[in-house]
Amino acid sequence: MTIAAERMINGVNQERKLVTNLPGPHSLALLARKENAVSSGVGIGLPVFITKAGGGILVDADGNSLIDMGSGIAVTTVGNANPEVASRVVEQVANFTHTCFMVTPYAGYVEVCEALNELTPGDHDKRSALFNSGAEAVENAVKIARAFTGRQAVVVVEHGYHGRTNLTMGMTAKNMPYKHSFGPFAPEIYRVPVSYPFHDGPHTGTEVADWAISRMEKEVGAENIAAIVVEPILGEGGFIVPAPGYFKAVADFAQANGIVFVADEIQSGFARTGDWFASEFEGVVPDLITTAKGIAGGMPLAAVTGRAEIMDSVHAGGLGGTYGGNPVACAAALGSIAWMKENNARQIAKDIEAIMLPRLADMQINHPTIGDIRGRGAMIAIELVKPGTMEPDAARTAALNKYCHQHGVVTLTAGTYGNVFRFLPPLTMPVALLEEALGILEAAFEATA
Ligand SMILES: *Cc1c(COP(=O)(O)O)cnc(C)c1O
Repeated sequence: MTIAAERMINGVNQERKLVTNLPGPHSLALLARKENAVSSGVGIGLPVFITKAGGGILVDADGNSLIDMGSGIAVTTVGNANPEVASRVVEQVANFTHTCFMVTPYAGYVEVCEALNELTPGDHDKRSALFNSGAEAVENAVKIARAFTGRQAVVVVEHGYHGRTNLTMGMTAKNMPYKHSFGPFAPEIYRVPVSYPFHDGPHTGTEVADWAISRMEKEVGAENIAAIVVEPILGEGGFIVPAPGYFKAVADFAQANGIVFVADEIQSGFARTGDWFASEFEGVVPDLITTAKGIAGGMPLAAVTGRAEIMDSVHAGGLGGTYGGNPVACAAALGSIAWMKENNARQIAKDIEAIMLPRLADMQINHPTIGDIRGRGAMIAIELVKPGTMEPDAARTAALNKYCHQHGVVTLTAGTYGNVFRFLPPLTMPVALLEEALGILEAAFEATA
């Protein structure tokens, strides 16, 4: 096992410890202030206010220590305040915090692009550009694909999630909470079927790809499509892993028709699934790849990486932004990537999978509400149904989530039907804590039966 075993990481004792009910009095006081100061449109999953974190633990304002099974939504893959990240950030902040790369550049931006060009699938000539958020990266991938192809249509898939800006809301499938009352959305976005093995009955990945391709040909016209944007493992949609052949068939269709194939690896990227990028699993080499979340150990950074001829087809000055590729965020990304290489992060993700999958399969025997167990690496989910049916059980999912939260495990839900329980532990999670979190999940099943 390469997975962590230390008792103390980053000054944080690797132990779940509850000293108050959750949320405790300090968090409740802060929550009251939040309600008076912060828009109620900004929701909170578990209102414990965090003061310190590291390894697999979040410490709150009341001194409670919670197990982190969410990594702030797949962001702190290298752990929170990872020393390799923190030391480079501190050094960079002390040197300079910002110049705007478009005004006067700095090496860190170039080094992050070099690392992305090296780590992403394919050994062709690549270029990258840096941005602030995942949504911004997706927007820029679409801009680049349109400039390169001279076409307008963008194809996305059912259950896909791409962000909260106007274009990416339009590209996102789920109405509540992402799109509701926020329209009208950008035009020229088309949604086609995705392979969802748990719900596809006997249909194979390539069969579903054929339906998707037929829809593109008949309803959009292949020659009008600038880009197909797909997550190789769908994140917010519920960690849907398309059946073998689906992703490849859609990528092949794109290639045969001059369409830019964009893998949105914002959630699945950076060692999360046991490969540097989830596209590698099916041997797909995307034309463009969008990254964010796990890239910079918690600092805001995002990127588009891809074929040099596509990335360079945009006029000079056409890409950028005031903060894109901020030097502090770049320093964090270089620290994060260095940690992943030195610690064989991909293997750690596989070790986490090897612990989680059999344990969840055991739980399924006693709790047939677990309809499906899926995912790869440290990106694992269970889909909950009314036993013996395919009917989504969002109420049970919410009850389990609440139980875990009350018992000091920070868990996340997902899925179009709100019935997916997802696990995104940091790769610095000690084995004992991971096992404890799974034990609490099992107790949650019993308590909510
Ligand atoms: C989170 C996410 C985004 C949006 O990223 P933000 O940084 O929240 O804008 C886009 N695509 C996928 C697959 C994501 O998981």
